[in-house]
Amino acid sequence: MSLLRRLVELLYGSDRALRRMLQYWAATCVLYVVCIGLVLVQVSRGMTDGETAHRLIVFGSWGALAFYALIRASARLGLKPDQLAVSQAVFSMICTMCAYAISGPLRAAVLVMTVLIIAFCMFAARPRQTLLLSIGSLAGAGGVMYWLQAHDPLRYPPMTELLTFGYLAGALLATALLSGEMSKLRSRLKRQRRELSDALETIRVLATVDELTSLVNRRRMHEVLEAEERRQPDENGTCIALLDIDFFKQVNDQFGHAAGDAVLRSFSIAARASLRANDVLARWGGEEFLLLLPDAAPEDARHVLERMAERVHGMPVPGVQGRRISFSAGLATRRAGEPFADAIHRADNALYQAKEAGRDRIVLA
Ligand code: GH3
Ligand code: MG
Ligand code: MG
Repeated sequence: MSLLRRLVELLYGSDRALRRMLQYWAATCVLYVVCIGLVLVQVSRGMTDGETAHRLIVFGSWGALAFYALIRASARLGLKPDQLAVSQAVFSMICTMCAYAISGPLRAAVLVMTVLIIAFCMFAARPRQTLLLSIGSLAGAGGVMYWLQAHDPLRYPPMTELLTFGYLAGALLATALLSGEMSKLRSRLKRQRRELSDALETIRVLATVDELTSLVNRRRMHEVLEAEERRQPDENGTCIALLDIDFFKQVNDQFGHAAGDAVLRSFSIAARASLRANDVLARWGGEEFLLLLPDAAPEDARHVLERMAERVHGMPVPGVQGRRISFSAGLATRRAGEPFADAIHRADNALYQAKEAGRDRIVLA
């Protein structure tokens, strides 16, 4: 990691939400620096009293540092982004009002900052908070202006203060409304993004999982097999088995289609419970299943299938009483570099032999 990246990590942390909050904080700091520069120019030109300006600069700088600490500790303190944004905005408004009070003839220009502060709120605060903040700021500004014209009407003519207040009220309320609309738009976008990702997840599940049995479906199994073809198996090789439930049509005819579905579900649960960690069982079609056994010698694969047969014989099926469910399986080893389609073809022939030989058995190709 470069030195610069390490420094950024140290200052901003690694959490994405925290980083975003600190980026806003950094943007505010840039604004502070610009304002401090302007105030210092005012001081050098004799427009502003140096000592008061110095006190305000110290107040603003400590405040900025305190907010950095608050943001970094926000998770531990349980502070939400909107609470932090509003308190930062309140603090900036107080600084702006102080700057207004000390800026003499340039004071009206300082009020531009209030609009900027409200605009910042659209990124984190809720519309109601932004509106309340605007009203509060307006009340604060009104108070400061009233105090100034009452104490020094020569330097702060009442009419000038009143008109300035009118402009500020118009600008602040309009910005608050716009900022509120933007916040609503952002929430809508966020909600739509969440809905979209939920929908994508549903589509992904629908495209890869069989609805009835919750097993991997045929389409997904093709992808699994393609990936397996690219992989280098260990010295045991890989086995593939085709499984078919015996006399399934009779189950449907005797107990009904719903009971047939229940058999498929129970079979899937029992079969899955017999697998090793990396084995993949897919519903290949109707009452036929394809089992991939990576890194398994034929005798390992046979063990898995025998364990499975035992579980299937003993599994309870709702709605199907007094009938033993069994399956036949054709097992094949995949030769090195061979496409899975060929191994599946051999497994299919072995399955046919298992059926011919009386069913409820495993035949190795
Ligand atoms: P075999 O032992 O030779 O495999 O005989 P079988 O009766 O199991 O095989 P057959 O191919 O004659 O019949 C399969 C039946 O499976 C026919 C079809 O209606 C039924 N089936 C296929 N998919 C489903 C399903 O999703 N639900 C239910 N309930 N039945 C299904
Ligand atoms: Mg069958
Ligand atoms: Mg069949």
